[in-house]
Amino acid sequence: MPGLNTLLPATTELYLDLHRHPELSGAERRTAARFADRLEADGFRVLRGLGGHGVAAELANGEGPAVLLRAELDALPVAERTGAAYASTVTAAGPDGRPVPVMHACGHDAHLACAAAAARWFAARRDSWRGTLLVVGQPAEETLSGARAMLEDGLYDRITPPDVVLAQHTAAFPAGMVAHADGPVLAGSLTLELRFEGDGGHAATPHLSADPLLAAAGVVTRLPVVAAREADPAERLVVTASSLRTTDAGHTGNVIAAQAVLRVTVRAFSEAALDRAASAVERVARAEAGAAALPPRVTVTQTSRSGVTLATPDVTAAVRSAHVAAFGAARVTGWPATSATEDFPLLTGAGAHLHGRPGIRGGYWMLGTVGPAQWAAAPGTGAAEKLRALPGNHSPHYLPSVRLTLETGTTALVTAGLARLAGPAR
Ligand SMILES: [Zn+2]
Ligand SMILES: [Zn+2]
Repeated sequence: MPGLNTLLPATTELYLDLHRHPELSGAERRTAARFADRLEADGFRVLRGLGGHGVAAELANGEGPAVLLRAELDALPVAERTGAAYASTVTAAGPDGRPVPVMHACGHDAHLACAAAAARWFAARRDSWRGTLLVVGQPAEETLSGARAMLEDGLYDRITPPDVVLAQHTAAFPAGMVAHADGPVLAGSLTLELRFEGDGGHAATPHLSADPLLAAAGVVTRLPVVAAREADPAERLVVTASSLRTTDAGHTGNVIAAQAVLRVTVRAFSEAALDRAASAVERVARAEAGAAALPPRVTVTQTSRSGVTLATPDVTAAVRSAHVAAFGAARVTGWPATSATEDFPLLTGAGAHLHGRPGIRGGYWMLGTVGPAQWAAAPGTGAAEKLRALPGNHSPHYLPSVRLTLETGTTALVTAGLARLAGPAR
């Protein structure tokens, strides 16, 4: 793609700066400002502060479709252990006010740098395309709340609504490659909070008290049955009890805690499977509590939900062939749907309940980040063994190979955007 190489130094500078200065979900003040300033300098009309620190930028360039490139602003509460010269040493106030380490362990810094570079290319090459280019820096993806917050803040009323939304996500496979899925790219998810309540009591007289902890523990051991015995194996359902805590004097040995709170995460590849699993978890919770002579009270709350990331087939086909043309077929591979999740679908027609535009289509692909040296050093002989051994997203050791990742990610965005925008006027 002509002109892309000249973008690399500024893109690398932006990436390294963002990597050194990660910010937690909802606190992306500096990151948003850097991203917005870059887009403004390149001639975009820029809106700031959408749904928190969200950034939306627009560049109108004649008649044609509106294409939105989306990247995420937030980082994770992870202590970086990559040993890189530009590793994060940042801490920020956690939920309880105590400092937590912060790291771009999901590659969102690379997404932002590639989106900024692609935006710069489109702004400089307005003779190569027609339509409207939109660029969004979305806050709070890791908490699955930022896309919704931006839409509820009127994102699509304040910019030209897109015809298609494009995004890429880094993953631990060879840098220089992109991967496309047939069907779902990422799972849908929901998180349930199961609250069991009794009135407390003396540990020496358990027969006199409802026992919330016992009921919750029963649910933990029973839940694997939902995926293993009740769901069609083809659904690839994941049901994980991920945290259990007691409250109200639950930290001493001689008091039966009055309350136990269990969090359960569900992943599935269809909305119907998510719904079925949610009601199965609730059924198990009520039945386990109900099995006790003195049953604790049960409250089930859905605390978050994200849709299945499903690229629109004709968008995937067009973007995939643009990538094959740009990279060669050997650098474009397949992607088996993974149980990670995203709030990206809300920005497409799947979020029509929030923005009223069911026709918005989506394109989503994965971007490799493992450089040749890291690949060679990974234990194992075959690709499958190496892929299992390499640190993935959210690991304190996750570190994209800078040049290859940024070059490939920028080219992937530019060529995908060109595939969906109108061609130059003749
Ligand atoms: Zn993540
Ligand atoms: Zn991510």
